[in-house]
Amino acid sequence: MCEICKEVMTVDAFSNTKVYLDCLKYIQTLVDSGDYRFESKDCDTDKVRDENGCWADDIIFHSIKCEKCGQIFICSANTYRGNGSFRTV
Ligand SMILES: [Zn+2]
Repeated sequence: MCEICKEVMTVDAFSNTKVYLDCLKYIQTLVDSGDYRFESKDCDTDKVRDENGCWADDIIFHSIKCEKCGQIFICSANTYRGNGSFRTV
């Protein structure tokens, strides 16, 4: 894991919806910075909920990969059960 990855703030468990949405914004800024790219994503980070507040899916998955060292971080949320995390693989 490189110096950039060591600074990434992971979340063991999203305590509420806002924490999850904030984490997605954070992931987007990591990608926008150029240090990471999306390995896979179920939808855009700002499209996990529609204008009516309905989730895109029961399980929403985003993963990013470090361009420098290849470290992968996975953000997954089970919107049906209401839990999720952002962690290294
Ligand atoms: Zn790295």
